[in-house]
Amino acid sequence: MSGVTLTQAVKKYGDLEVIHGVDLVVEHGEFCVFVGPSGCGKSTLLRMIAGLEETTGGQISIGARDVTDADPSDRGVAMVFQTYALYPHMTVEENMGFGLKMNGHPKDEITEKVGEASRILKLDEYLKRKPKALSGGQRQRVAIGRAIVRGPEVFLFDEPLSNLDAELRVDMRVEIARLHKDIGATMIYVTHDQVEAMTLADKIVVLRDGYIEQVGSPMALYSDPDNKFVAGFIGSPS
Ligand code: ADP
Ligand code: MG
Repeated sequence: MSGVTLTQAVKKYGDLEVIHGVDLVVEHGEFCVFVGPSGCGKSTLLRMIAGLEETTGGQISIGARDVTDADPSDRGVAMVFQTYALYPHMTVEENMGFGLKMNGHPKDEITEKVGEASRILKLDEYLKRKPKALSGGQRQRVAIGRAIVRGPEVFLFDEPLSNLDAELRVDMRVEIARLHKDIGATMIYVTHDQVEAMTLADKIVVLRDGYIEQVGSPMALYSDPDNKFVAGFIGSPS
């Protein structure tokens, strides 16, 4: 069981504190969405969970394990970024399997895992293509595929759909919801799109200036926001 627990998590860049003692429990299998204005600390918090940023104070646990000081590769997490830097000279298949190959996994296993991920993401027909022969949505699927093949306990998404046009964003949103249903893993998803937050989330975390303003289900935040700031983010009339 691999939920994520932050206990008084702090991040400082030099003397500048940008995350101010955040307490948060994301349950196993939960879809948790971080929202808040630009610069409020969404990416920083996600990168701290991933181990891409050092946590300056407090504790981060995944399941029962304290991972505060663990290497990113030892955390059982996989992150999907807004800019899906695929290797242009590699095929879709090679892009998805690259991480496993680097970690010395056998070829059969890589083929099997890539096959499984490509079925989930409907990329079967594109395995031999290079990224430049794919649409934006297909490229983002490959980036998600790279995360899936690693079999993480926790998926971390940092505005994965921001670079896609509106129509594709809707399609991909539906796919991410389906992926969550199929895999059942814990997912933490950063977005500034209210519709994405409302439709994907079991739990929404509203961040402001490096602290949590309110946590709740989409309905709870919509119908009972603590203040105008939260109401503004969740889009309820106030
Ligand atoms: P968000 O993802 O919500 O837009 P970030 O997590 O990127 O916000 O940034 C949170 C705060 O931390 C911002 O004030 C930003 O300027 C600051 N910050 C982010 N990265 C660094 C860094 N490497 N050095 C100094 N300050 C940073
Ligand atoms: Mg960000």
